[in-house]
Amino acid sequence: MFGSQLETVCGCVVGGAGPAGMGLIFNALKSGALPAMTRNGLIIVDASPLPGTGRLADYQITANSVGDVFLDCLRDPALREVFEPLQRSEAYWRIRDQAFSAPQLCDVGELLAEASKLVLDHLVEHYAVEVWSRTTITEVVNIADEYQVWVEHNGRSQVIRCRSLVLNLGGHQDPSHLLHALADQGLALSPRTSVQSADTLLRMSANELRDHFAPVLAVGGRLTVVGGSHSAFSMLENLAKALQSIGLEELTLVHRSQIRLFYESVEQAIASGYEFDPVNDVCPVSGRVNRSGGLRYSALEVGRNILQYGRISPDGVRVRLLQSGAGPAQQYERARQALSESSVVVQCTGYQPRLPALKYADGSPITLREVKGGLDSDPSGCPVDAIGQRMHGLYLFGLGSGLGIDPRLGSEPSFDGRIYGVWQFHNDASRAVIESVSSRVYVQLAEKVVADRRRRRRAEEDTPFFWPAMASAKF
Ligand SMILES: Cc1cc2nc3c(=O)[nH]c(=O)nc-3n(C[C@H](O)[C@H](O)[C@H](O)COP(=O)(O)OP(=O)(O)OC[C@H]3O[C@@H](n4cnc5c(N)ncnc54)[C@H](O)[C@@H]3O)c2cc1C
Repeated sequence: MFGSQLETVCGCVVGGAGPAGMGLIFNALKSGALPAMTRNGLIIVDASPLPGTGRLADYQITANSVGDVFLDCLRDPALREVFEPLQRSEAYWRIRDQAFSAPQLCDVGELLAEASKLVLDHLVEHYAVEVWSRTTITEVVNIADEYQVWVEHNGRSQVIRCRSLVLNLGGHQDPSHLLHALADQGLALSPRTSVQSADTLLRMSANELRDHFAPVLAVGGRLTVVGGSHSAFSMLENLAKALQSIGLEELTLVHRSQIRLFYESVEQAIASGYEFDPVNDVCPVSGRVNRSGGLRYSALEVGRNILQYGRISPDGVRVRLLQSGAGPAQQYERARQALSESSVVVQCTGYQPRLPALKYADGSPITLREVKGGLDSDPSGCPVDAIGQRMHGLYLFGLGSGLGIDPRLGSEPSFDGRIYGVWQFHNDASRAVIESVSSRVYVQLAEKVVADRRRRRRAEEDTPFFWPAMASAKF
């Protein structure tokens, strides 16, 4: 559906209906907040023909949590009836079968897409909600306490005016970000090196990776992955599996800080012989080791193999781990050399938020302040601009934006990044947004009541007073 007028006014726009935007919608439905949030109308805008899907299903890797974590997002009495059809869904049963192991992201994505469709249909039927699919947000203008969201659909453009804008359009990997991060460490790439985004490569099948890299390997080109997170280790695994048969013998991983492994408890980490800092790497709330920043499931297995055997698997491709940040001096030197000699460097150093053009009323651009791993925002994802002014009514918490650690929920002190993940979108990350959006709706309603009262009073003062019976009398 797309608006029929050039200008539409509503209380809240949810821009981007991937796992982050949909996490907010699911949570609003579960927590009973939808009537408040939709009081002045809510429009969900997504560029894709199937809002609710996002990009998660595109990644050809294993999830970093067990299946039950995703099922938990759908488990709520308020959703039982809406999700009844999922009992007949193959994707649902595939994830249920892997409740205690990590499923493939394509299966997780399929389940979330099916669940999202059910929720969106329910919302359109029962609440003041419109879903504008195949509609792209092109520009957002901040005017006083309001946002003008410019959208395009089939070449037609129109504007939605709203007081709350939840904006999660996914993330992208800007190569200049990588080059700056390397330059900060005194590292550089050769002008001949091709920088390739892990985001693109992680969506390729083994055959596609082989076709893509065969020319590089044919001339003895070297491949280096830069990063140290779940996706860096998934990237190493996918490259090794796909390219070993066409001659790949070695991969290099350049990582800034120490590789961190996740353990459920200090006792487990000690029993595995893992060295960690008993204060900085342990979450004081849960007692878990590297709870936020540690490798889990298949990335953990790859990480352990590399640390133990120097290979992806005991007889797999060799992997050189080179720490470029504070660590052994010779490793920095080898990292510098590896980067300068690589034909391809794969960027696995996080994401930047995908944003439309953001402007103030006078047309000047708005730059959102960044911090390590995402945007500088408060617990509800409300960001600040370049001079530190809070952008009230704007909320971002998805891929590339993330949220800071909530000290009540805990994390290891050594983790200084932003967190984002499906479970967070459906729970903690969206809870604060829902509260803030709902309170803005009430302020708006209160302002409207006062304005209506003022208008009525003015009208009464301007109009002569008649007894009701006389109002229709002819003079
Ligand atoms: C490689 C990788 C692996 C991950 N693995 C996990 C995992 O195992 N578990 C986990 O919990 N999390 C994981 N995440 C993190 C996160 O859950 C996913 O990245 C998730 O897809 C982020 O959701 P999103 O809604 O922020 O972005 P996306 O999934 O990218 O969705 C963005 C949405 O915005 C829409 N959109 C884009 N541009 C516009 C526009 N201009 N106008 C309107 N609509 C637009 C798109 O159509 C899409 O629907 C992973 C992330 C990555 C990168």
